[in-house]
Amino acid sequence: MLAMITETVVSIDDLQYLTIHCKQCGTSMTLDLNYAGADHDRDDMLGVCSICGIPFDSTLRPNVIGFKRAYEALSKHAKVSFRVKIQENC
Ligand SMILES: [Zn+2]
Repeated sequence: MLAMITETVVSIDDLQYLTIHCKQCGTSMTLDLNYAGADHDRDDMLGVCSICGIPFDSTLRPNVIGFKRAYEALSKHAKVSFRVKIQENC
C-alpha cells in the first residue's frame, strides 16, 4: 500500500471541535470550541474519563482551558491558519 501525504490550510475560524482520547480505554470526548456555557461545566469533564473512571493527567485541564482561551483570542484579533498534513492511502 502506498501512502501519499498532502497538506491543506485550515483557518482558525474553521476549527470547531477539540477531541480528547482516553489513553486507558480509547474513549473520546469532543469539546465544542465555540461553546458559550460556563467553563466549570467543561472542567468537570476534564477530571476523569466518563467511561473507565481513570483520572486524566492533571495537566490536561489547564492546557485545554489555555488552548480555549488562545483560540478565542486568536479568532477575534488575528487571521490565523494552520497547515494540516493529510495522509491518503493509495
Ligand atoms: Zn477511559
